[in-house]
This record gives sequence, structure tokens and C-alpha cells, in this order.
Amino acid sequence: MNPVLIIIYRFVLILCLVGAAGYAEARTTASRVLFVNVNIFDGTSEKLLKNRNVLVERNLIKKILDRTISAPGAVVIRGQQRTLMPGLIDAHWHTMLNFWPISRVLAADFGYLSIAAANASWATLRRGFTTVRDAGGNCLGVKNAIDAGLVEGPRIYPSGPYIGQTAGHGDFRGPNDVPENPATPLDYPQRVGHTLIADGVPEVLQRSREALRMGASQIKTMGGGGVSSLYDPLDVTEYTFDEMKAAVDVAKTWNTYVMVHVNTDAAVRQWIQAGAISMEHGFFISEATAKLMARKGVWWSMQPMELSGEDAFVFENPVSQDKYRQVVAGLDHVIALTKKYRVKTAFGTDLLFDADLAAKQGKFLAKLQKWYTPHEALKMATHDNAELLKLSGPRDPYPGQLGVIKEGALADLILVDGNPLANLDLVADADQNFVVIMKDGAIYKNTLP
Ligand SMILES: [Zn+2]
Repeated sequence: MNPVLIIIYRFVLILCLVGAAGYAEARTTASRVLFVNVNIFDGTSEKLLKNRNVLVERNLIKKILDRTISAPGAVVIRGQQRTLMPGLIDAHWHTMLNFWPISRVLAADFGYLSIAAANASWATLRRGFTTVRDAGGNCLGVKNAIDAGLVEGPRIYPSGPYIGQTAGHGDFRGPNDVPENPATPLDYPQRVGHTLIADGVPEVLQRSREALRMGASQIKTMGGGGVSSLYDPLDVTEYTFDEMKAAVDVAKTWNTYVMVHVNTDAAVRQWIQAGAISMEHGFFISEATAKLMARKGVWWSMQPMELSGEDAFVFENPVSQDKYRQVVAGLDHVIALTKKYRVKTAFGTDLLFDADLAAKQGKFLAKLQKWYTPHEALKMATHDNAELLKLSGPRDPYPGQLGVIKEGALADLILVDGNPLANLDLVADADQNFVVIMKDGAIYKNTLP
């Protein structure tokens, strides 16, 4: 190698190591951590378990007792009857797409975007979200760097590239890029694995397998008209039945599942018929479809979006803004239906293209109190979401129990200054109210003296 290049290479390596050390400083790892005198929301029960002591050993919850636990050498955290709860889970998050406007994402170098995403992932974890299910965009590098301890962030269940059709919700090519010449190289977002356009059964099979080869824990498909995309009106069903079945079949052969971006009643029904069990958004489903979902155990992932006010999404394109209005108008109705038939419901924010909005991830969880009790909302964002994530079976990057506080579960914990079962607004301000944040047994935040 050219000597100048070697010097540059070493300099970059040193910078990387310094950067990694800077991140690692925030994290404390001890082989044992003892929480003393905490009230527990365990992820399921409506009642707090009062005055408990919890021993964490390495990355697991080892003991929960209502009497003293002897743990020589343990780091002791005195809870003083604050509430210990499972780390929060966002079932619809975009690690790569939550912090920059779409135009900047599309123009960005992938390396630069990944560093920015790592930075944003640190903030996600500091909001108490210890796990996210990533709904598309190539976050594999960021996920691997987090898991290796190079940077800090949540556990990520990655989908890798979302698989979509020409003119579908994942088609971000320029308006004049079709018809495509078969000899034309893929565009940049496809080359770096954010999105893959696949038309016809053979291509859907191939692209789905490529996503799994990259390390996806589940496949994400674009199954119907979307808001932020430009070529697909909301009423469109994306993919024919055979193409849907191709994606679902690939997932089944890998013992995992497909999560489908889909809104209309017709599209949801077809995807269910093709064997899909995880629906994202579904803002326009009918009563009969809610019933069908309940009967088949199909999951519905809901986003508490708002039409107006300071938390309403603002899009760069007026077409998207209009579609957003139509979609969000369906929210109250679909929640009423899914509650009526007890459809398995997950909470996911899907906050996109806006760092200020992403910072409100916890506030979006607190918004659930418009339709659900604090207990229902918290159970959804912990125990229930974890149940959904575990559908990835042997593709699960984090085997073990998530979303609950029980002996043997993974130690993802938040110590809340107050009782979120009585006041859900506490989760809206993690800076103020989450005094300890632990992931996998390591302490990432501790503001107690
Ligand atoms: Zn999404």
C-alpha cells in the first residue's frame, strides 16, 4: 500500500478508536447489579409489585424477592420505591430514516448516513427504547456496531432493505428513470441495501432471500399505497397474489415472517390470504377484516399519528401531505375495530425524516392514552411488542425473553421516577423521568447520586 495511504488509514483508525472510547465511557458494566426497594411493573400485570429487590447478573434478571438479596460486590441502585419497568420497544422504527429529511437521505453517502444513524441510535436508547424492530433501510452496519459495543443504541430487529414493486412505496427513483433498461445499474439506495425493487415472482424470491442473506430477522414488504412515496396512490394494492405469496414463502422457509406495509382493506385481506401475519398501518380496514385478523392471530402495528398540532408530520411534497391527511383520518375507526375484536396490537412510531419528531418517540407512546389505559399502552410497548418480535424464531438476533421483568429474562430495565401506570405522561420525558436505563445488563444512564 502507498505510504501516504497507510498514514491516512492509521489516522482514521485512531479516530475510530477514540470515537468508540468516547461512547463506551457512558456505559457501566458490572457482573452484578442490585436494585433495592423498587416497585415493579413487570410488563403484564396491572398491579405494581411493591417493595422488591432485583438482582441482575451479567445480562439476565437473576432474582426478584420481597426480602434482602445478598449480592457481594454488586453495584447497588437504591430505588426508593421508584418504578422498575421493562425497557420500551418500538415495533416500527427506521434506524436510518428518522433524523434527516428524505431529500438529504437520498443524496447522502452511505457511510456518512450510517455514522449519523449511530449517533441517533444513542438518543433512541437514552429515550428508554432498548429494542426496536427496524422496518426498512440498511441498518445492518449500525446494528452490528451496537451489538459489538462500538457505539450505543437499542437492540435492533433489522429488516434490511424493504422489498417493493416498481412504482411502489419503496420506489424512490427519479420521475424519469422508467422505463428501466435491464442493463442499467441499480440506483444508489438499492445498491447500498435500503430498498430493493422486485417485480415478478422470481425477483421477489431472489430479493427476499438477499435481505435474509444480509441478516434480516424478518422481511419487510411494501404491500400497498404509502404516504411518503410519490408514485403509489393510497388505494393501490402492491404486488399480485403470487408475488405476495413468494415473499411470504421465502420467509417461511427461513422460519421467520413478513411485516407488510399496507393500508387498504383489499390489500390487507390479500396479504393475509397469502399467509402474512404482521400488518403495518392498516388504517382503512373494515370490520370484517378486523374480525379476520383476530381469528387468524394476525398482528396490527398501530401508529398514533395526529392530523394537526405540533406533532403532525410535515412532508416536503404536497402529494404526501394530502395522503397523510387521508390515512390519519382513519385512525380512530381502526382502533375501535381492533379493540372490539381484540386484534393483537403492537405499538410502533414510524417517525420519519425529522430529528425533532424522533425526539418525541416517548411522547408518541404517551399519546396512546387517548384510546388505551396506561396499563394497556405500557403492556403493548413491552410484553406485547416482544411477543411480536419473537415471531422471527431462529432468526431472532437476541434469543431470550424481552419486554418483561421476571427471573431469567434479559435485563433491559428502566427505573422511572414515579408510577407510569398512574401517569403515562412520564414516558414522554425520558430525560427527566427515567433515572436509570439498562440494556442487556449494562447501565447506559444513571442519574441517581
Ligand atoms: Zn415505516
